[in-house]
Amino acid sequence: MFIDVSNLKKSYPSGVVITEVLKGIGMKLEKREIGVILGPSGSGKSTLMNIIGGIDRCDSGRVIVDGIEVNDLNDDRLIDYRREHVGFVFQFYNLVPDLTVGENIEVVSNISKSPLNTDEVLTAVEMRDKKYRFPRELSGGEQQRVSIARAIVKNPKLLLCDEPTGALDYDTSRSILRLLQQVNQKYGTTILMITHNAAIAAMANRVFKLRSGEIVEETVNQTIVPAERIEW
Ligand code: ADP
Ligand code: MG
Repeated sequence: MFIDVSNLKKSYPSGVVITEVLKGIGMKLEKREIGVILGPSGSGKSTLMNIIGGIDRCDSGRVIVDGIEVNDLNDDRLIDYRREHVGFVFQFYNLVPDLTVGENIEVVSNISKSPLNTDEVLTAVEMRDKKYRFPRELSGGEQQRVSIARAIVKNPKLLLCDEPTGALDYDTSRSILRLLQQVNQKYGTTILMITHNAAIAAMANRVFKLRSGEIVEETVNQTIVPAERIEW
């Protein structure tokens, strides 16, 4: 099993009250699969993803990614895990405004040791001709393509996408989701994606429904819908 999460719990203090945001999550994903976490705002999706990606820590439970017991890593090793193995894509792209497209990819640490180079990933996301543009000169969909290029330049084992189409119109969303399916196929990258849009679940191998910090349903899709055919 590539991702193996069991009995994961996380609480945040809010004033004098402690809110349990994840209440004993269990989920598994095989290597090269696409998993979707589906749930309403505030259900704990980002918290779960951030713990799997080593941005945040759990209070208890286990998170194993490709044999690495993430919950056991000390702070330095957690940073190494994140840098070496995980790519992140966020809703609002998180590009550096003062850097060109190419430079945004080259800010990735240890880029010289990356298995892929800037031109390769820009070609993969069909943005090679925009290498010297600035983020403000690009549409939202194009900015998201660049952020995907940045996330995959290290050829991470795991790509975590937090509402990657949350700020995009339906047609652009389809093309970004299609790109993620292509990355999954071409590089064999395991992808875990967050969404509150149930239609997106059709393109995944496994779907985890999250409600108030609990997985209330898991679906295994027998047929995967190519993203360009998602019906909204
Ligand atoms: P989702 O991504 O599903 O919208 P989140 O995981 O972002 O949900 O948040 C789940 C709950 O945890 C929310 O009620 C949110 O306010 C709370 N929360 C998230 N991060 C923090 C934090 N760093 N400190 C305190 N509360 C937090
Ligand atoms: Mg969120």
